[in-house]
Amino acid sequence: MKNFWRILSYARPLGPSAVKYALLTLLYVAFSLVNFTVLIPLLEVLFDQVNVPQAGAIPAPPDFSLTIDYFKSTFYYHFNAIIIEKGRLGALQFVCMVIVASVLLSNVFRYLSAMILVSLRVKVLRNMRNHIFQKVSELHLGYFTEQKKGDLISRMTVDIQEIQNSVTNSLKILFKEPVLVIGYFAILFSMSVKLTLLTILVLPFSGGIISIIAQRLKKRAVQSQESLGRILNMLDETLSGMRIVKAFNSERNIVDKFEKEVKVNERYSYSVLQKFEMAGPISEFLGVFAVAAILLVGGTMVLNQQGDMSASKFMGFLIIFTQVLTPAKAISTSITNINKGLAASVRIFEIIDTKPTITEAPNAQSVEQLKTSIEYKNVNFSYGQEQVLTGINLEIKKGEIVALVGPSGGGKSTMADLIPRFYEPTSGTIEINGVDIRQYKVKDLRALMGIVTQESILFNDTIKNNIAFGLVDIDDSRVIEAAKVANAHEFIINTPEGYETMIGERGTKLSGGQRQRLSIARAVLKDPDILILDEATSALDSESEKLVQEALINLMKDRTSLVIAHRLSTIQNADKIVVIEKGKIIQAGTHDELSTKTGLYKKLLKMQSF
Ligand code: ADP
Repeated sequence: MKNFWRILSYARPLGPSAVKYALLTLLYVAFSLVNFTVLIPLLEVLFDQVNVPQAGAIPAPPDFSLTIDYFKSTFYYHFNAIIIEKGRLGALQFVCMVIVASVLLSNVFRYLSAMILVSLRVKVLRNMRNHIFQKVSELHLGYFTEQKKGDLISRMTVDIQEIQNSVTNSLKILFKEPVLVIGYFAILFSMSVKLTLLTILVLPFSGGIISIIAQRLKKRAVQSQESLGRILNMLDETLSGMRIVKAFNSERNIVDKFEKEVKVNERYSYSVLQKFEMAGPISEFLGVFAVAAILLVGGTMVLNQQGDMSASKFMGFLIIFTQVLTPAKAISTSITNINKGLAASVRIFEIIDTKPTITEAPNAQSVEQLKTSIEYKNVNFSYGQEQVLTGINLEIKKGEIVALVGPSGGGKSTMADLIPRFYEPTSGTIEINGVDIRQYKVKDLRALMGIVTQESILFNDTIKNNIAFGLVDIDDSRVIEAAKVANAHEFIINTPEGYETMIGERGTKLSGGQRQRLSIARAVLKDPDILILDEATSALDSESEKLVQEALINLMKDRTSLVIAHRLSTIQNADKIVVIEKGKIIQAGTHDELSTKTGLYKKLLKMQSF
């Protein structure tokens, strides 16, 4: 239930809507009740059970008071007056007019109150979507492992939709129907205490059965959502890795894997839907069971002429009682529904409540430039159990190019990821200008650096916006300047709409070399003091490679660079080469120094025939 209020809190401020809603709902309920209470006089007229009062025998119109009695006596006052004046036919017309008028009014109020819930519902959804997206964007990088991606997407789309469908939909029922039920029962009690008590006996029984079903449903719903997350994950993986799937002839494998998961999902969905469908029939059966019991007892009362139970009054009672069933049924359905939605909300609040592990120190200081150096001091790091970096000590002086080389999986990328605090060392520190980077504002720290990764990360937007990514109010001329430095201007102006060309999802409309030059242009435009560069290993044609190389050299000019190097040219330009193997620095020096010493570097040189 806590989550239910938490969902509602997304529609804050609730006060004004709640007051308006309560008022409109009360009016709606009042007018709906009128419809059924006038049924008894109607039946009396039809069954010829009214005693036509003598003229002059009608009591004076009642004095105004806010009680049911006042409205009842006012109605009967006019009702009697009309019978005297126009006879039974006139009374029939009068009752019909009252019914039409009150149905009209009750439906107008019903619409108005429903609209308040509609705006509440869309507001919850909007605020929730924004909140979860903002939270996700603040989470530390380590959170976004590949396995989590599909699950995250499913939570942010399907689960939110589920909340929209169930919890917010049920609001209507939970806040309106109980008022209706109470109103109906008030009338039933005023008609016959004995019969009404009998009906009440049946309700807890049916409520108990329904809540057992709801509990089971909730459990299955969670399992079903989790399985859906795995399916989405598989979809994402397969769609982006289709080339490999085909190259390895693994279509059958992935289809088998997919079908297996879909089957699991089918089982859970079946179970959820089965319980969902069960709730309706069961409550209906219990309802009719109650009607039969009442028919028996009430019918006996009429036949034996017990109390003041007349046939038309008993029929009125029955009609009103059947009206109780509809909202009661709606309430029980919506309880099962809410459980489905609450299961989804648990998954959403899990994300919202995840604390980012990379946080800013309370009195974090600003940093605007790299003045002296970047220094790793005794840095150790592990992703979970696995030790990835051990005892790293390295100084990168301002203006230097430092190249990291070594076998893949050695820890080079991880080392680079520690500088912008994508991950935090398990022990040891990294300092910039002699100050632990944890002392700096995260935003400032990251503003110091430009990052060009192997895989150029582009967004489905125009070329211009991709280059100016993350920067605001950038002059077109600066974008063009950056593209020129990155050797990208030529190809850009040859695209259909130049800088305004949309590049397609993840830049798929561009070649590998072009994508890289765009990422380089992005880094040039940001003009950072520190450059973190993960050179592409993917094969580019030699023309493209030359352009990319030139662009990189332009980019590194007058900056401090940490390069994960795969190419000879970068390595020869480097002021220092650091050889990393199994998370340790095993050699460091210039190319000339290292290439003459026996060691891993010499071996690598030979192997790659640099
Ligand atoms: P390199 O850049 O030298 O190829 P990495 O820094 O990418 O090496 O990887 C070092 C080790 O850390 C590898 O064993 C790799 O499997 C592991 N690793 C890399 N990223 C992650 C991650 N996000 N979660 C867990 N382990 C990781």
